Amino acid sequence: MTDPTGDANCVFCKIFDRSIPAKEVARTEDVLVFNDLNPQAPSHLLVIPRRHAANLGDFVAAADPAEVGDLFAAASRAGRSVSRGGYRIVVNEGPDAGQTVYHLHLHVLAGRALEWPPG
Ligand code: AMP
Ligand code: ZN
Repeated sequence: MTDPTGDANCVFCKIFDRSIPAKEVARTEDVLVFNDLNPQAPSHLLVIPRRHAANLGDFVAAADPAEVGDLFAAASRAGRSVSRGGYRIVVNEGPDAGQTVYHLHLHVLAGRALEWPPG
């Protein structure tokens, strides 16, 4: 899948480099956790890698396995930090899944009972 915006116009690249503001929750050199602008649960965090990739498939194709592990570890830590009752990690890839921002992001949803199966 191609990135329709390109890196230079990528909103999540800009959030990572702080040229667009976001409510940051945690940051390492390579991973940022921040609040989703349009939350779908009482806690709705987004976890993004510094390195731009349009989606999960592109990211894992180019990533060091440790880079993938760091991303999921950050999402797990974020989920546990906001909820003792559990959390859900969601990755949307492509239009059928409803992807709207073409920089890989993990959604971390928590704070209410989440339906299964998801819509
Ligand atoms: P997806 O549909 O998986 O591509 O999810 C994109 C998510 O990014 C949506 O949940 C949006 O609410 C969220 N989002 C878009 N722009 C921003 C922004 N500037 N700050 C925080 N969240 C955003
Ligand atoms: Zn980007």
